[in-house]
Amino acid sequence: MAFVIVEKVTRRYDAGVFALQGVSLEIERAEWVAIMGPSGSGKTTLLNLLGGLDLPDEGSVIVDGQDLTRCSRPELIRYRRDKVGLVFQQFHLIPYLTAVENVMLAQYIHSLADEAEAEEALRRVGLGDRLRHLPSELSGGEKQRVCIARALINEPSLLLADEPTGNLDEENERIVMDLFQRMNDAGQTVVMVTHDLTIGAQAHRQIQLEHGRLAGFHLTPSQEDEDVDEVLEYLFLVREGHQIPPEVCARGAMLSRTSLLEQMVRKNLVAFDNGRPGFTPEGGRRAELLIRRHRLAEKLFSETFQMDEAKVEEEACYFEHILSPDVTDSICAFLGHPHECPHGHAIPSGPCCREASKLA
Ligand code: ADP
Ligand code: MG
Repeated sequence: MAFVIVEKVTRRYDAGVFALQGVSLEIERAEWVAIMGPSGSGKTTLLNLLGGLDLPDEGSVIVDGQDLTRCSRPELIRYRRDKVGLVFQQFHLIPYLTAVENVMLAQYIHSLADEAEAEEALRRVGLGDRLRHLPSELSGGEKQRVCIARALINEPSLLLADEPTGNLDEENERIVMDLFQRMNDAGQTVVMVTHDLTIGAQAHRQIQLEHGRLAGFHLTPSQEDEDVDEVLEYLFLVREGHQIPPEVCARGAMLSRTSLLEQMVRKNLVAFDNGRPGFTPEGGRRAELLIRRHRLAEKLFSETFQMDEAKVEEEACYFEHILSPDVTDSICAFLGHPHECPHGHAIPSGPCCREASKLA
């Protein structure tokens, strides 16, 4: 189950303004996602929903298995306190309190006031020599780092940031982004709103909002891998000159997902020839291994386990994604390195087949 699941969320303000309309997306644990889109597209609204600061009119927001739309007020407060760290574009620091006191205020909210720990948090963001400064005595970048120290005080698993570099110069932008990078490396899930393309490019994935709706396709990395595999298989079958059965055509339809294809071109799996997509050598090898796993699984399930046809196809589609090279070769050896699947299609040979033919 994904760490964050947003399902068919709609947030409507008075006067019929739809800030979000039917938005669904998933975010994996330890992922770093950038939420992008023009001003007014619903980015802040989405972030507030993830932080439990606001509730949708329709749909659900589930974080770490907890459905925020079903929480009582005290449960939401506990959720924010235990799980969430918030960093805003405006710093929201108390002007009369020093850096360390501002961080301690956050500790107080989390009922763990400890000055030494607050100082340590500020040192971690490089502000060891600014502990007793008031916000008015700090630069924009330093203020934002106080906010980050404050957001991290409860070691949140979900870090939400709304244009955190919006008011910073280039050098401070880099310092702040390095901090987010470090937190993400340490396993914290980061969701960052930005309209800056270079900032967005540092995330694992960009989610684009337009007029409160998702623009383009947004898959988790594992879903994306499976979709990449499906397209590779589809191209392989086309290359074999197959009549493509209808259930496989869905994979072909994925070719029209430009973002997915672009990704496959970037990963050097697919290249265009005369406007038609084809394999790179690497893409061809990966497709061959997929087809090999699929057809070996088919043969095993239908001939050894005598499963019925529909079940065989379903199981083979699953196993092709999970069989390790070793297990694949063991199955291949067990079946006697077969050349054809039950439908009479060629099973690409593997290293084990070449070894076996050398021994024969
Ligand atoms: P973004 O962060 O992408 O600029 P927002 O999520 O702040 O967009 O806003 C999305 C839409 O919802 C905008 O049209 C905005 O005017 C409207 N909106 C946001 N907050 C409120 C509010 N509290 N009351 C009424 N309308 C709001
Ligand atoms: Mg905003």
